[in-house]
Amino acid sequence: MMNDCIFCKIVDGVIPSKKAYEDDEILAFHDITPMAPIHCLVIPKKHIRSLMDLEAKDIGLAGRLLNKAQELAKELGCGENGARFVINTGRDGGQTVDHLHIHILGGRALSWPPG
Ligand code: AMP
Ligand code: ZN
Repeated sequence: MMNDCIFCKIVDGVIPSKKAYEDDEILAFHDITPMAPIHCLVIPKKHIRSLMDLEAKDIGLAGRLLNKAQELAKELGCGENGARFVINTGRDGGQTVDHLHIHILGGRALSWPPG
């Protein structure tokens, strides 16, 4: 674990979160500042800084993260109307927490393009 990473602290239970899903390698929790009626984050428990830092050995994990994001979106009621799955990456991508995460945003129609 990276001891200055807030998502690693959430994984370790040092910072509380409202969990939506957990297994041995994946955690999903509700965003503390929801931007839509449904706003969850799906993260690997392992600290990976960003999508740019994903290594070949993590491809299986990345696939399982995507699959879990899909399942959770359906569970949360977005199966019919859809949702937006977002991976903000690096400075220009607007990433504010340097621990890989997939945003699930749903429950309302979202605009495009982003600002
Ligand atoms: P990003 O800007 O893509 O790096 O997204 C980081 C997200 O983490 C933001 O939507 C924040 O609202 C969210 N966030 C930050 N701290 C917490 C926390 N303690 N619990 C839940 N979500 C958080
Ligand atoms: Zn971390």
